[in-house]
Amino acid sequence: MTLFSDLGLAQPVQKAVDEAGYTQPTPIQAQAIPVLLEGRDLVGIAQTGTGKTAAFVLPLLTRLAASDERAGPRGCRALILAPTRELAAQIGDSIATYSKFLKLSHTVIVGGVKPRPQIKRLEPGVDILVATPGRLLDHAGSGALRLDKIKAVVLDEADQMMDLGFMPAIRQIMSKLRKTRQTLLFSATMPKPIRQLANQFLTDPAEIAVTPQSKPVERIEQTVMLVERSEKRDALRDILADQAVERAIVFSRTKHGANRIVQNLGKDGLEAVAIHGNKSQNQREKALEAFKSGDVKIMVATDIAARGIDIDNVSHVVNYDLPNVPEVYVHRIGRTARAGTDGIAISLVEMDDRILLRDIEKTIGFHLTDEGADLHCPKPAKKPQRGQRHRGGGQGRSGGQRKSATPGKPSAQRGQGKPSAKPAEGSGNAQAKRRPRRKPRRSGGAAAA
Ligand code: AMP
Repeated sequence: MTLFSDLGLAQPVQKAVDEAGYTQPTPIQAQAIPVLLEGRDLVGIAQTGTGKTAAFVLPLLTRLAASDERAGPRGCRALILAPTRELAAQIGDSIATYSKFLKLSHTVIVGGVKPRPQIKRLEPGVDILVATPGRLLDHAGSGALRLDKIKAVVLDEADQMMDLGFMPAIRQIMSKLRKTRQTLLFSATMPKPIRQLANQFLTDPAEIAVTPQSKPVERIEQTVMLVERSEKRDALRDILADQAVERAIVFSRTKHGANRIVQNLGKDGLEAVAIHGNKSQNQREKALEAFKSGDVKIMVATDIAARGIDIDNVSHVVNYDLPNVPEVYVHRIGRTARAGTDGIAISLVEMDDRILLRDIEKTIGFHLTDEGADLHCPKPAKKPQRGQRHRGGGQGRSGGQRKSATPGKPSAQRGQGKPSAKPAEGSGNAQAKRRPRRKPRRSGGAAAA
C-alpha cells in the first residue's frame, strides 16, 4: 500500500494533505506524483472524482517550493488551463487548501467577469495561475500577463476544452510558452485531436490511465426509465421527492430546458437551482454555494456548466435528457459516487432517444436496458456526428413498433457489471407501456424487475 509519505512531497504539502484528512493516495496520485516530481511530462486519462486535481497540484507545489525563482511583474511560474469558470474556481480552492503552509501565490482568471480586477491581481506576478483559455489569451494579448516564465503547464479536462471550442486558443497559448517546461494533459477521454495535441506539445510523456477510457466508475448504479415526453415532468418529480435523494444533479440538454425544469419543480414544491451559461458568474456562484451548503438539494445543470464540478455526497444524477455524445454520459454520472461513496444515476429515455441510448451502452460496454431487448433502433443514415441529435429515422412516435426492453419498468445495472443474464419479465417483444415506475428501485446489479 502506497502512503503519501512515500511519495516525496515537500513537508508543508504533506502537512496540508494530512490536514485535509487524506490517509492514502488515490491510484492516479500514487502513479502520477512520483513521475511529476521527476519533472516528466504526463498524459493522464482520468475522470473527475479520481483525485486528479491533487495528483497534479501536490507535485507542482513541491517543485515550486523547492525553487526561489520569482514570477516577476505580470509573470507566472505555473499555468493551469481549465474549461469552465467553475472548474477553475475549484482548482483554485484546491490550491489554497494544499498550499496553506507555503508562501506561494495563486489566482484564478476566468471569462464572464470584469477584466480590471484581474489585471490588478496579475500585476505583481503570481506563482500559479488558473485560467480559462479565452480570458488568458486576452490578458496575454494586452500585455497584462507575460507567459515567458512559465515552467509548468497543466491542461485539465482537455477533451472538454476541445468540445467548448478552445482548441485554437490552447494551441496559441502553447506556442507562446518556453520550450523547456513541464507539460501535463488530463482528459477523461482521448479522442484523436487530443492525442495530436499531446504528441505536438508534450515530450516523451508518461501515460497513466486510472479507469478504462469511457467507463463509468463501478459504484454507480445506473437506471433507465422509458418515458413519454409528456411524462417526464412527473417522473422527475417522483424521483426527486424520494427520501433517498440527499443531493441531486439533474442534467438538461439546454439552458432554457434547465430553467423550465427548475420552474416546474418549484410548482411541484421542490426547490432547485439552475446553473448554466446564461446565468451571470454571480448567479452561478450563488447557486453552487446554495447547493454545496445543502440549503438546496437539487441543482439543474447543463453539461458545460457542470463539468468537473466537485461536490461531495451527490446521491443522485438524473439525466432529464440523454446527452448527444456518449462520453458526456460518463462525465455526467461521474458527478455522483465521488471520493469512495456510492451513487445512483437515472436516465429518462424517450423513444426518440433509442439510438442515443444504444450509443451510450456501446461506450460503457454493457446494457442499461435488459440484454436481448429489442428497442428497434432505426439505423442512422450515416454515422452520427458530435452535437447532432438522432431523431429515430422513420420510426417516430407514431410508428407502430413501440417496443421496450422493460415495459413499465426501469432497468438497472451496476457499473462495470455484466449484462443481465435474464431479461426482465416482459422484455423482448412485448408492447411497451412506457409508464415509468414512480420510484426506481435500487438493484444489486441484474436488471431490476
Ligand atoms: P478530483 O478528482 O480532483 O475532482 O477529486 C475528487 C475529490 O476527492 C475531491 O473532493 C478531493 O478533495 C478528494 N480527494 C482527493 N484526493 C484524495 C485522497 N487521497 N483521499 C481522499 N479524498 C481525496
